[in-house]
Amino acid sequence: MLKEPKKAAQNIIAIVYDFDGTLSPGNMQEETIFKAYGIDKKRFWARSQALVIRRGYEKTLAYLKLLIDDPVFRKRPLTKRKLREFARHVPYYPGVDGGYFDQLNAFIKSLPEVSEAGITLEHYIISSGLQEILEGVSIRKYFKKIYACEYDFRGGRPVFPKLVINDTNKTQFLFRINKGKLKLSESINEHMPETERRIPFRNMIYVGDGITDVPSMTVIQKAGGYAIAVYDPARRVPRAVKAMVAEHRAEHFAPADFRSPSLFVKILRQTLKKIIASIVYRSSADRSSDWVRRHM
Ligand SMILES: [Mg+2]
Repeated sequence: MLKEPKKAAQNIIAIVYDFDGTLSPGNMQEETIFKAYGIDKKRFWARSQALVIRRGYEKTLAYLKLLIDDPVFRKRPLTKRKLREFARHVPYYPGVDGGYFDQLNAFIKSLPEVSEAGITLEHYIISSGLQEILEGVSIRKYFKKIYACEYDFRGGRPVFPKLVINDTNKTQFLFRINKGKLKLSESINEHMPETERRIPFRNMIYVGDGITDVPSMTVIQKAGGYAIAVYDPARRVPRAVKAMVAEHRAEHFAPADFRSPSLFVKILRQTLKKIIASIVYRSSADRSSDWVRRHM
């Protein structure tokens, strides 16, 4: 008998979502913090951009600094509690909080090959927005893990950003999902053979809306996974989305309408069926090679 190689079942499928512009129209800071503090969004983003241009700040760090340092926030600091409360005001694209997740999870369960192969579906968010807001959103329970910018809070107040997520380092979190090392304290640098990875990239679907999602879509697509670009259903197809498809960053695009049977839901179900068929195919091929190994 030949030695058994170490293997993960690899029958988990992950859908990874960007948040702003993907599940929610607009921008979470504007819908929550800016409204509550009466902040003019143009002026805020101009000040943030000034930190980038004049003082060499990284773009995400610049806005995180202003949310601590700006006179408005010095006077009335943001707190964990406030951010969680603000989450109630985060708007969603149609269907997101109206049954999309339950329906999709039920769709998966209804397919006979899913129970035969023990296939499960997990949802993740990777966002450059704020963790504390996302932890308070009504759809929180549907996600296995949410990655977003985090502050170190002392006495309830943010004192320093302890995790910054921008467009390029977003990809690190895809590898965490891929290797099943979801905790930030776990190193993901050591090599892990493909067969040991919890969720191979070919079992992943990335959903995003803009240029900031391009690095993530590229990583997933190059490794055999899938990317879907979405855009505001009230608008025409944006140039960024056309470019994403033309440049093969995303195979499909659709309005961000999560109500069944929207085009987005149809594309997603097709993609899920394709992944499921490939998992079933691989597991029967694995059974053949295991049998041969035992009988050599
Ligand atoms: Mg976005």
